Amino acid sequence: MLQRDLGRGRIRHAYLITGPAGVGKETLALNLANALLCDNPVDGDACGQCRACLLTSRATHPDLLKVTPEISGKRIRTGKVKIEAIRQLIYDVNLKPVEAGRRVACLIGFDAANDQSQNALLKTLEEPPGNVVVILTAESADALLPTIRSRCEVIALRPLTTAETRDFLVAGHAIDRERADLLARVSGGRPGFALRLAHDPDSLAERQTTLAAVRSLLSANRVTRFAMAERLAREATVDEIQATLQLWASLWRDVLLAMTDADLPRTNLDFDADIAAIARVVTPAAGRQALAALTRTANLLGRNINARLALEVMLMSWPTL
Ligand SMILES: [Zn+2]
Repeated sequence: MLQRDLGRGRIRHAYLITGPAGVGKETLALNLANALLCDNPVDGDACGQCRACLLTSRATHPDLLKVTPEISGKRIRTGKVKIEAIRQLIYDVNLKPVEAGRRVACLIGFDAANDQSQNALLKTLEEPPGNVVVILTAESADALLPTIRSRCEVIALRPLTTAETRDFLVAGHAIDRERADLLARVSGGRPGFALRLAHDPDSLAERQTTLAAVRSLLSANRVTRFAMAERLAREATVDEIQATLQLWASLWRDVLLAMTDADLPRTNLDFDADIAAIARVVTPAAGRQALAALTRTANLLGRNINARLALEVMLMSWPTL
């Protein structure tokens, strides 16, 4: 669709690429940027041979501006978009293009941006300089301000089938068929996520353990929940705790989605059994309360409060299976 539009010279000022983590949003954003900067595009796609394509492939094209969230946490990562980075980007896009006929700004993972950063970008989207294209990526369009969303052409990416993901891993990355099959299933059809897991088996194991803890915590008594709070507070850094809370929140969101039959992509497809089991016995109100407690605790942890106490309060507010 994009190639056809670009081939006909139909270029929007702003695109928003959405889809679950690891589905290929950033890859598509950069390919689109490449096509927009290429000196000799072929049928709306980059030629791959000109000077612009060479610079883009080396991430050194002066007219390609990119902002990614600052990542913290070793195993499970969380990201923040710095307001200073957005301000710098806005300054840069308003300068004249250096090499190409336009400047392209890629804002990767823009759902990690707070309202202040989003509002800063809004003016650029409202009155875009004529030769600027802004490409945003976010897991869900709902995470962005409606005023941002409405100014973008939204391109929603969905996961591939398990077979397509497996074939991609086997053909493109020389991963043996059996392992590719497992990665395809665990990744829920998200090729980028599958590749990350393929290159970092530890993070796969860590993620499984963290997610599996939700169901067992729900069947656990007060003593076990307090022990978990104590252990997390003692062994993990604040960033690691935040990352754990983020993973748990993603599972609770999946539970709430399972309750409503909403046609929205779920994040933890390999935990379908746990999600269904929790969704069967927990009321929607209790599910929303558990998710709200996670958000509240994540906010509190940013303010230097006693982590163990905050985690205890949070886990006690979770329902019991
Ligand atoms: Zn080219």
